[in-house]
Amino acid sequence: MRIYDVITKKKNGLSLTKEEIEFFINGYVDGSIPDYQISSLLMAICFKGMTDEETVFLTDAMMRSGETLDLSLFGDKSVDKHSTGGVGDKTTLIIAPIVAAIGGKVAKMSGRGLGHTGGTIDKLESISGFSTSIEADAFFKQVERIGVAVVGQTANLVPADKKLYALRDVTATVDSIPLIASSIMSKKLASGAASILLDVKVGSGAFMKSVEEAKKLAELMIFIGKKLGRNVSAMITNMDVPLGRYVGNSLEVYEAVTVLEGGGDDDIKNITRELAAKMVSLACGYEIEKARALVDETIRSGAALNKFKEWVIAQGADKDKLDSGTYLPIAKNKVSVLANADGYISKMDTEKIGICACMTGAGRESKNDVIDLSAGIEILAKTGDYVKAGDVLAIIHTAKEKTDAIVDTYLSALEFSSEKVEYPTLIYDVLG
Ligand code: URA
Repeated sequence: MRIYDVITKKKNGLSLTKEEIEFFINGYVDGSIPDYQISSLLMAICFKGMTDEETVFLTDAMMRSGETLDLSLFGDKSVDKHSTGGVGDKTTLIIAPIVAAIGGKVAKMSGRGLGHTGGTIDKLESISGFSTSIEADAFFKQVERIGVAVVGQTANLVPADKKLYALRDVTATVDSIPLIASSIMSKKLASGAASILLDVKVGSGAFMKSVEEAKKLAELMIFIGKKLGRNVSAMITNMDVPLGRYVGNSLEVYEAVTVLEGGGDDDIKNITRELAAKMVSLACGYEIEKARALVDETIRSGAALNKFKEWVIAQGADKDKLDSGTYLPIAKNKVSVLANADGYISKMDTEKIGICACMTGAGRESKNDVIDLSAGIEILAKTGDYVKAGDVLAIIHTAKEKTDAIVDTYLSALEFSSEKVEYPTLIYDVLG
């Protein structure tokens, strides 16, 4: 087989066979096919697309390019969740202990933040003592004993995606639905869970800018998962506003704990309730109404909060600091962002707010940047809220002394209207 012929076939809009797809994935990973030929093939895929069947072959070949996790020990109870990335998305921190307290097994590999979106691993590392790298044996034992463990992705998880993603990033070939679906699903399938819930975000802070596009991506990922033997559902959720009230690592852990204590704002409470109920339903087989009732009861009784503490202590969190409420770093400076006119907030450029959080020190622009775990933004007014000139819109938490640019960026992310503005829809659809 020649890679030249595979590229030509795709350039002419023909479907590739399973063997041709395995050939280019294996050849790229072992170095026998160079970047320039794979770039050309990726561009042909962007223009000519892939059938759903080709995308299944691609996902399968990518998944098998490295090590895979075998969670069969947990039967149907293992359940994973993937968010396509958002600003203020701390849902995993809340959902994982809830699902574990009800009987699901959450054996999860998560990523770090890059660009304007945060990552679960960074958030967890803001908890004093918490370790995100534990040996495989200890990881399985922890999941067996307490139902939840979250670690960083192992180096050899889907090496094909690491190489392909890096190439797509610099060849303008990221925005292809089959390439995105295979990239996400190869990692989720390699992570081993029997059931997977996909949270596909839509809006100014997300990859997908329209509900239609997001549904297309979600439907394809569900198709791939089912073809490859997993139970997959998806929620299409709004990322035109940051989720919850806090953006930034320790601030988001603080907010997650508030929700587990029964508090928190309605958006973050409602979305985590729906995501957790769906995961419980997938993992434990309950009807969705029953699953919702169990989620509510788990929070009300304190079982979810206790499970959170058990989980973080199992991964090294400092128990004394946890008990005394001093387990999170606090930023040196707090600076208020004030409204300069009366009006309703009509729009929030969520990507810009994510960038603003990075400017506080909370995020990284390139892989090796060191982040300030205490930094971030506390958001006091969101789309649909009415504010008066001089009201505090947000509080910047940072170690930086010069904050004018951060404040200006935050203000430039907001639009105001004198007309009443409706509160945004939170969940657009549930599929699968
Ligand atoms: N997230 C991924 O993991 N891969 C993509 O291609 C896009 C988003």
